[in-house]
Amino acid sequence: MTPSRPSVPVRPSSRPPVRSTRPAWRRALVAAALPLLAAGVLTACAPPSRADRSAASPSPTPTPLVVAGTNHNAAAQAYAYPAAKVQGWLRQGNTAPDYPTQKIAFLTFDDGPSADATPQVLDALRANNVPATFFVIAGPLGLGRTGPAQLRQEVEAGNAVCIHSYSHDYQYLYPQRQANIDHILTDEAKALDHIRAALGPDYTPGCFRYPGGHMSWKGLADSDAGLAGRGLSWIDWNAMTGDAESKSKVPSTPEEAAANVRHDMALVKNPNVVVILMHDAPGKKISTEALPLIVSDLRAAGYAFGVIA
Ligand SMILES: [Zn+2]
Repeated sequence: MTPSRPSVPVRPSSRPPVRSTRPAWRRALVAAALPLLAAGVLTACAPPSRADRSAASPSPTPTPLVVAGTNHNAAAQAYAYPAAKVQGWLRQGNTAPDYPTQKIAFLTFDDGPSADATPQVLDALRANNVPATFFVIAGPLGLGRTGPAQLRQEVEAGNAVCIHSYSHDYQYLYPQRQANIDHILTDEAKALDHIRAALGPDYTPGCFRYPGGHMSWKGLADSDAGLAGRGLSWIDWNAMTGDAESKSKVPSTPEEAAANVRHDMALVKNPNVVVILMHDAPGKKISTEALPLIVSDLRAAGYAFGVIA
């Protein structure tokens, strides 16, 4: 049976004018706000550009967790450093013209969130009174599996959240070890949408870490430029615990994991800026166990702790 259709199409312009059903006090309030909006005293909506990319995100959270336009909360403002700056420090080492005189350590955790490792990392950070930067997988290997609660806890506790891809799929992102710019940028956009669904539309990171690290792949110049156009700087590391190494090389004790960090730092001449690679993927716990040792080493060497924004 064919559904019946009206013989004359209804044109919107033929509808009678709609009268406002708002009560008088609300109309008065709106009228009072209009000049303020025009003068820029009130903000009608979020700024355009990257914020607009959240349009397709499902159910944003009601309470803003992050300071608008950043990847962290208000408390973390005091120790958050722009990713572009951190990248410059890492790439130029102590030859950078604005190299910091204060030593700064960035503890970074990749490949989470996960149901087992992430809560332990958060406990260890709290117990040692240090913040960290989480490079999260937004797809089924991370956020898609755990749901948003852990990501929100990361931010609430004064940590920063950066993008580490949606898929974490080397074959998709770098077939034959060569960057596929379309895949990388599509994957990043998808990751951002999903993280915004967890943390709210104000979430805007400046930091991105390539799965496997920038140092591991060829032909990244175009995707570096594409990411830069989105306000993202890629961040590698200059020290690591080795918690994601092959089985024979992975540290078996916390002391070994902390020694790996000391060893790497010595190799790069103990720079003022150290970015330490660790993981909070499922089953990873050696870095968490080593955290008190790593933190006390860094404190003894005069480092303060920052997050990457
Ligand atoms: Zn990774």
